[in-house]
Amino acid sequence: MPRTPASRTPSSQPASPADTVDVVIIGGGVAGLAAAHHLTRAGATVAVLEAADRVGGRAVTEELDGFRLDRGSQLLVSSYPELTRTPALDGLTLRPFAPGMCLHDGRRAQRIGAVRSTRVALATARALSRASARPSPRTGVRIPSLPGPRLPSPAGPLGPSPRLPSLGAPRLPSLAVSRLPGLGTSRLPGLATSRFPGLGTPRLPSLRVSQGTQRASRSASGPGRDQPVHDVLSPRAAALRPLLTALLGDPTLQGSSLGAALTLRAFATGRLCLPAGGAASVPELLAASLPPGTVRTSVRAVSVSTTLVTTSDQRQLRCRAALVATGARDAAELLPGLRVPDFHPVTMLHHTADTAPSYPQAQDAALFLPTEGPVAYSYAASAVDPSRTPPGRPLITTAVLGSAATLPAGALDKTVRPQLERLYGTSADGWRLLAAHHDPYAVPAMPAPHDPLRPVRLLAGLYVCGDHRDTGTVQGALRSGRRAARALLRDFGIPAPDDSRHALSDAA
Ligand SMILES: Cc1cc2nc3c(=O)[nH]c(=O)nc-3n(C[C@H](O)[C@H](O)[C@H](O)COP(=O)(O)OP(=O)(O)OC[C@H]3O[C@@H](n4cnc5c(N)ncnc54)[C@H](O)[C@@H]3O)c2cc1C
Repeated sequence: MPRTPASRTPSSQPASPADTVDVVIIGGGVAGLAAAHHLTRAGATVAVLEAADRVGGRAVTEELDGFRLDRGSQLLVSSYPELTRTPALDGLTLRPFAPGMCLHDGRRAQRIGAVRSTRVALATARALSRASARPSPRTGVRIPSLPGPRLPSPAGPLGPSPRLPSLGAPRLPSLAVSRLPGLGTSRLPGLATSRFPGLGTPRLPSLRVSQGTQRASRSASGPGRDQPVHDVLSPRAAALRPLLTALLGDPTLQGSSLGAALTLRAFATGRLCLPAGGAASVPELLAASLPPGTVRTSVRAVSVSTTLVTTSDQRQLRCRAALVATGARDAAELLPGLRVPDFHPVTMLHHTADTAPSYPQAQDAALFLPTEGPVAYSYAASAVDPSRTPPGRPLITTAVLGSAATLPAGALDKTVRPQLERLYGTSADGWRLLAAHHDPYAVPAMPAPHDPLRPVRLLAGLYVCGDHRDTGTVQGALRSGRRAARALLRDFGIPAPDDSRHALSDAA
């Protein structure tokens, strides 16, 4: 809704009809926008309040001299279920990395082909889930292991996914939506938030199971079952360490073994990809699917209850329900008592050279995975997704995790250059650092036992989503948004839009 002078009326004045919506969502990152998308599809009126001057949160792409530079590198796997369960993302184009893995031990590269990578990843996923299924020391209950892997399609284990550019994603007709009944009349009690007891405690495994990976991940996420992946990764799976580090953003691999198992299964059944045009493509597509005026940028919420959200300029928005979709730290400011996890810091570096490179690795669409050194992974973004660069210009994107990520940009640049020279087999003398983005709160840690389905419904009328309620990935943010939308619609008594491909169920 456009901001008018009337919108700055003092908080004691009643809100105008335009300031009343079914749901106020605080936070316009991937999770909040995904929730808004599912809710508006079901007919709810929604306002998304975003504190920044643009949507996207951590999935932001900056433009600089014709380069499109991600503040966070968004490695996606084409088999992430939410990519196909979110209709707004039908238009998302994924640019695949070269199949397999490219490890580098500091002296030379070792290519592991697609078939072998897939086998190792699947075998390790099974082993990790078996390890997680050991009898619980507390209960002696045996937890089922992950379901058997989906067999590769006849096209081959790493054949193109339907979302890869070679094949357009099939489009389904949009569903007819109806307005919510009883609009404007709040059936939910107004409740100022104070502390929400129990929000910080790990969830005990639920007996209710749904399907597939979700069943396994949820039922095995109790104490004594899920374990730090580092402790249960066999020496034979050592080749997968750099890949897991890259995909989980976890340099010490102290996170959940079940989370790692799910990640490896996704890797084995899909293709590693980048979103075409940059990380921002995902939130931009989500935002574009919303009715005009739904997203209000540069608006910071300062308090929330089930029926009222107040912004930093003392404006009030009335609603039937509120959804907090910020990162974990901001969510805990608005919802005192909410658990705040530890975080893995990440620094992204973007380098270019003045001319197209002659060194072959810069034309290679591989994800380079060093087995040592400060670089966690690096890729020639210009080779994977040429739309990120001006014609003929190379773009090398590098992620640094752990303590090295906290170095100042200049020092970090100096530190990583020798390693990048070895990875790309060339002198980096002519390289120019375009940008360095450090985020100390990039990825929420997922220590074992990790519940990837943390509750999103706090009470009727008040909900929370974001990657900290699920997994610290775009997939996790999307799924948490969908789960919150579903819980909210259930409380409203509204059937969730559903169809064969875009099911709005809790299933993973
Ligand atoms: C450097 C980096 C690398 C990453 N690499 C990967 C990767 O390779 N693969 C992958 O899948 N994921 C990766 N991630 C993680 C992924 O980006 C996040 O999991 C995902 O974007 C989180 O989305 P979200 O909506 O939960 O939270 P956010 O993106 O944090 O969105 C929350 C939004 O809420 C807004 N907000 C906060 N407080 C308020 C308030 N009071 N009022 C209004 N608005 C507010 C914020 O401005 C923000 O826009 C990476 C992240 C970073 C930073």
